[in-house]
Amino acid sequence: MSDADAPRTANPAELRARAAVLDAADPLDAYTAHFVPGDDLVAYLDGNSLGRPVASVPAALDAFVRAEWAGRLIRGWDELWLTRPRALGDRIGAACLGAASGQTVVADSTTVLIFKLLRAAIADVRAADPARDELVVLADEFPTDRYIVERLAADHDLTVRWVDAPLDAGITPELAAEVAGPRTIVALFSGVAYRSAWWADMAEVTRVVQAAGARVVWDCSHAVGSVPLEFDAWGVDYAVGCSYKYLNGGPGAPAWVYVAERHHASLRNPIPGWLGAAAPFSMTEGYSPAPGVGSLVSGTPPILNMVALAEMVTLIEAAGMPAIREKSIALTSYAIELVDALIPSATVSTPRDPARRGSHLTIDHPNSAVAVQRLWAGGVIPDFRHPSGVRIGLSPLSTSFAEVERGIRALADALS
Ligand SMILES: *Cc1c(COP(=O)(O)O)cnc(C)c1O
Repeated sequence: MSDADAPRTANPAELRARAAVLDAADPLDAYTAHFVPGDDLVAYLDGNSLGRPVASVPAALDAFVRAEWAGRLIRGWDELWLTRPRALGDRIGAACLGAASGQTVVADSTTVLIFKLLRAAIADVRAADPARDELVVLADEFPTDRYIVERLAADHDLTVRWVDAPLDAGITPELAAEVAGPRTIVALFSGVAYRSAWWADMAEVTRVVQAAGARVVWDCSHAVGSVPLEFDAWGVDYAVGCSYKYLNGGPGAPAWVYVAERHHASLRNPIPGWLGAAAPFSMTEGYSPAPGVGSLVSGTPPILNMVALAEMVTLIEAAGMPAIREKSIALTSYAIELVDALIPSATVSTPRDPARRGSHLTIDHPNSAVAVQRLWAGGVIPDFRHPSGVRIGLSPLSTSFAEVERGIRALADALS
């Protein structure tokens, strides 16, 4: 079901008819029925901001409350829950990240984990080379990422090296080579850019920054579950990502964090807590960290939120990232054709080359803000991104081609 097999046409009626053909040929089509339907939902185009709940989640939550929480009470920590952040981390690592076990753990929010990783990287790199004093980040990076970089720079007397990348693209190996040098400590980049959906050449960018003696923290909030990641093969140092976007863990679901095994010996959590300690219930004096990535846990992890997340990980394990990626490319290619045909006054601010594109598109149009507000009221749900972007997120397991067609047709009406 590659996009190239579909008949090319800019005719709206033929484009509309093609949705049924694409859905019928989609090997993952049955998965769209595995999600709780929304009451007024016409087209959900924001799975990149908050994934829909998997249909098995209500029963899984009910079973957790009865059997584990009520059933085991405090015994649950010893019997079930203490190992869950690492066990679920390993499953995400295997299914989505190309990460061998022992390098991924589910812990705090993405924001908090970015802080922990950058702080750990600063300590490590400066221990070897105290003269390094620069943190690298894109000038239009996601706000939380920029805020943390600025805070750490201010607190540790470092300089922020702001990088300008085009708004419809993101970090490239060439740009990384320009900005990484003998002063660089660590660069924080997005695997898939939150606005443009630019999928960076993560292996090559990592190589270029490491060649300058520095490290990279990859924020994979829009990449995990949408594009296949190969952290071990790419030599990634550190990565972090949301689990409520394409991992459908629900509002407030805890993020995951990856640290390559070669950095474990020197890894230091800047927020040491008892549940990241070697022996949490020994209540000993002095902090002795758990081995490896487990030490990045600080306080009590949100076990309840992990229940919903695990249900989506099960679906991803069954479908497999290669098939998910193939459908994502077909969905976004079809969506771009629809935008070109139905909204000629819009600019597609997302790579047209599918190899450089994640699973969402941003189109820019002067009427975006008003149109999105009107669409939300009618159950068509994209999102607005300042100053004039409409972001259309296509979550491969929950989105049908018919839904994309309905949504973009409604968007065309609302924008006109
Ligand atoms: C969504 C998103 C976040 C969100 O961080 P939280 O701590 O979960 O609120 C961070 N970074 C990027 C790039 C994102 O897209």
